[in-house]
Amino acid sequence: MEGQSINLNHCQICEEFRQDGIYVLTTFICKSCEREIVNTSPDDEQYQYYVDRMKLRRLQNQTMS
Ligand SMILES: [Zn+2]
Repeated sequence: MEGQSINLNHCQICEEFRQDGIYVLTTFICKSCEREIVNTSPDDEQYQYYVDRMKLRRLQNQTMS
């Protein structure tokens, strides 16, 4: 198992692999993205972008399994 020394999660927002973060349902979000989402108003265009990304990933996960 080379290259798998640390348990990293794939952030669904920024596509980075991180250790720290949270799971929203089955979607992993890293600490920095979580903070950005929290600091983004739901009225903001950017907020919808985050929501869309999370939805998209969930659909992809469902079709894969
Ligand atoms: Zn992230």
